[in-house]
Amino acid sequence: MGTGYVGLTTGACFAHMGHRVVCGDIDQRKVDLLNDGHIPIVEDGLEQIVNDARGVGRLEFVLGSRAAATDADIVFLCVPTPQGDDGSADLSYIQQAAREIAPILKPGAVVVNKSTVPVGSTVAVERELQRDDVFVVSNPEFLREGTAVRDFLQPDRVVIGSADRGAAEKVAELYDSIDTPIIITDPASAETIKYAANGFLAMKISFVNAVAAMCEAVGADVAAVVDGIGSDTRIGGQFLKPGPGWGGSCFPKDSRALVKIAEEHGYNFSMMKGVIDVNTEQRGRMIDKVAKAVGRHHSNLSGVTVGAMGLTFKAGTDDLRESPAMAIIADLRRAGARVRAFDPTTCGELSPHQESTLDGIELTKELIDVADGADVICVFTEWPEFAKVDLDQVAARAGAGTTVVDMRNLFDPFAVKSAGLGYDGVGRN
Ligand code: NAD
Repeated sequence: MGTGYVGLTTGACFAHMGHRVVCGDIDQRKVDLLNDGHIPIVEDGLEQIVNDARGVGRLEFVLGSRAAATDADIVFLCVPTPQGDDGSADLSYIQQAAREIAPILKPGAVVVNKSTVPVGSTVAVERELQRDDVFVVSNPEFLREGTAVRDFLQPDRVVIGSADRGAAEKVAELYDSIDTPIIITDPASAETIKYAANGFLAMKISFVNAVAAMCEAVGADVAAVVDGIGSDTRIGGQFLKPGPGWGGSCFPKDSRALVKIAEEHGYNFSMMKGVIDVNTEQRGRMIDKVAKAVGRHHSNLSGVTVGAMGLTFKAGTDDLRESPAMAIIADLRRAGARVRAFDPTTCGELSPHQESTLDGIELTKELIDVADGADVICVFTEWPEFAKVDLDQVAARAGAGTTVVDMRNLFDPFAVKSAGLGYDGVGRN
């Protein structure tokens, strides 16, 4: 159920692994696109495995949940769990999908929560199904957008939570062809693992962003500091890149849900609150850098033209959901700035979910075009091709005095300065 980043990847990868998969979605446009051979999202390697699996008749796309769940031995719920009004995860899509399929599930079928769901959701889905002849299992997904196919086929681990050992093993068997540890546990632990993992990753980024702020204050270089701390195997060098703050469709909602879940169970997760606060501050710090580059206060940027390199929340994806770039751009525009932006995923036809988000932002066809008349150029996303831009041409198009606010530390500061541009990175002195 659901053919988004998780559902489509899961369906295509299971089909690739030899299973027969029927993917159902309530979005007619998505189903039509998929049936016409178009992949509605940008995800490396996905098109190939979808086409291969369809070619051998192991993968199909249908409209609606029921059409997909009929005759299924195992049903994966891969529907959204957005943030609700009070910060908790909104379970309504999960509940709706469960209600839709409840009457038609085969006796003995296993329903799997692959969506990220709060502790207790396995029980909540059981309640929704009202069927004592089907099983509900938690199997959280850890894939990253941009490397979703690789992450699914070569995961660090598979986590399965179930009160019924047989149902857990049935789900575990689906992963038989993958060489990875399979952790079978109870549903509450499986659900907690997913939130704790995302919380920890968000914490690493907030930590390194706080260290970057300190580096700027004391005159240290964050790259050297990360190198120094990351080579300690207890810390590890991965996921310690300073930037404009974490974003995307998962970390923001999951970190807030983690705080909320803890609160509902009587625990004040103050560390996670701090992680979120640091992330919010980081966006403010980026806006201050832009304001400083043009000698203005951050609340008054009228008449300032900002060239934006990148819009997605990270490279390798077309996903704009909770992108730091989008949040910072919104604030810059509120302060009166004009923003011209380029992203490799928005220079042609927009993905269905991008269209609604980009209202009011001037999109350019080429990266270099964002330099035209720009008072400041912001590097929001670490697309590797940005690093290859001709800096002399950028300087020629932008004019003297323009500063590059490099929120991803993508450029060599000396190269930028040699081209006659100003430079400000994150935690670099
Ligand atoms: P998405 O928005 O890309 O896709 C969800 C899809 O579900 C949409 O196509 C929607 O039309 C469809 N849908 C909604 N209700 C339905 C129903 N009743 N029946 C059938 N289809 C229905 O979402 P996503 O990014 O794939 O995330 C799905 C879940 O997986 C979320 O809980 C998310 O937190 C979790 N997750 C996401 C990622 C990620 O990187 N995106 C990684 C791990 C876990």
